[in-house]
Amino acid sequence: MIKLHDKYFKPFISAGEIQEAIAKMAKQVRADFKDEVPIFIGVLNGAFMFASDFLKAYDGPCEVSFVKLSSYRGLSSTGIVETLLDVPEGVEGRSVVILEDVIDTGNTVKELVLMFSEINVKRFRIAGMFYKPEAYNGEYRIDYVGITIPDRFIVGYGLDYNELGRNLPEVYQINDKPMINLVLFGKPGAGKGTQANFLKEKYDLKHISTGDVFRYNIKNGTELGKLAKSYIDKGELVPDEVTINMLRDEVEKNPEANGFIFDGFPRTRAQAEALDELMDSKTMKIHATIALEANDEVLIERLLERGKVSGRTDDQDENKIRNRFEEYNEKTAPVLEYYNEQDKLHNVNGIGSITEITDRLSAVIDTLYKKEEA
Ligand code: AMP
Repeated sequence: MIKLHDKYFKPFISAGEIQEAIAKMAKQVRADFKDEVPIFIGVLNGAFMFASDFLKAYDGPCEVSFVKLSSYRGLSSTGIVETLLDVPEGVEGRSVVILEDVIDTGNTVKELVLMFSEINVKRFRIAGMFYKPEAYNGEYRIDYVGITIPDRFIVGYGLDYNELGRNLPEVYQINDKPMINLVLFGKPGAGKGTQANFLKEKYDLKHISTGDVFRYNIKNGTELGKLAKSYIDKGELVPDEVTINMLRDEVEKNPEANGFIFDGFPRTRAQAEALDELMDSKTMKIHATIALEANDEVLIERLLERGKVSGRTDDQDENKIRNRFEEYNEKTAPVLEYYNEQDKLHNVNGIGSITEITDRLSAVIDTLYKKEEA
């Protein structure tokens, strides 16, 4: 997910897919213009990348020029097309192929057809890198299409949102829902994992549990797993550096996420600071930390019960459990203060039925979305 001005965008079409489509299109055009030297005319500003890549992929003699038109302001076409750079000289009697970045409503296409109708060109063809059939009025034929896409606002690969995003080598689509990132906080056994499983479905969020990632690595015998095991077996925290790097990898594996639920992270102040830095570097942020509250007696009982079914050795031994609580009191509890200072801390009663607790958490999360959507 990236942020341009006030909006979030998520990855949509990779640089590789774009290049593949261009190679195909260039071949097709080449076959149609075997015995000619066509003039390719890129439509600025959006088509500068497409024109550049297309020309590199075009294996034959050709010329290149540009016109400049504009019909976009913000997220939608204004319907009025301005001509900012007119038809180049010397196209009379020549074959012209227009290179347009995106075929949308058809306003720009219409303007181009009008511009060139006054000049006697030999053949006039239109190539669109991205084509939105649902939006296009169909007035003129689009001769070559790179990639057909649904009627969604896109940026990247020459296309902008209020001038930002043109330099991105791949295409992003707008993310309608605001991104919300949550930290689910609580002592071992507070029900973070159980609740995260419901919340991730309900709000379409990516759930990252550092404990789960460690256990997965232990099960698969990875280097990370071997390292983590020695700490987990004693009920101690895995060193910050290891955990922070692992978390960064997990976030980076999910560029399309609508938001994250961090479960079991951060567990130290250093981790909380590292998380803020990571979020900052991706123009994301933590919106709230929700702490599930329950007293130690209830938690110990829950953990011992869970240990019987899950087979987690750190849940089966009361000494290990007590040690995890000590680690929590000493290292993790200060994290609450960290978020409290930022006015992001929400305490939720963690005692009750699973659905009761989900409802309490949802009430908090709903207000976050409302605030972001406002
Ligand atoms: P959990 O499943 O969250 O209870 O985590 C199980 C164990 O994994 C913990 O007792 C720690 O040893 C380790 N672990 C999980 N998350 C972290 C973290 N953020 N920092 C350090 N150690 C962690």
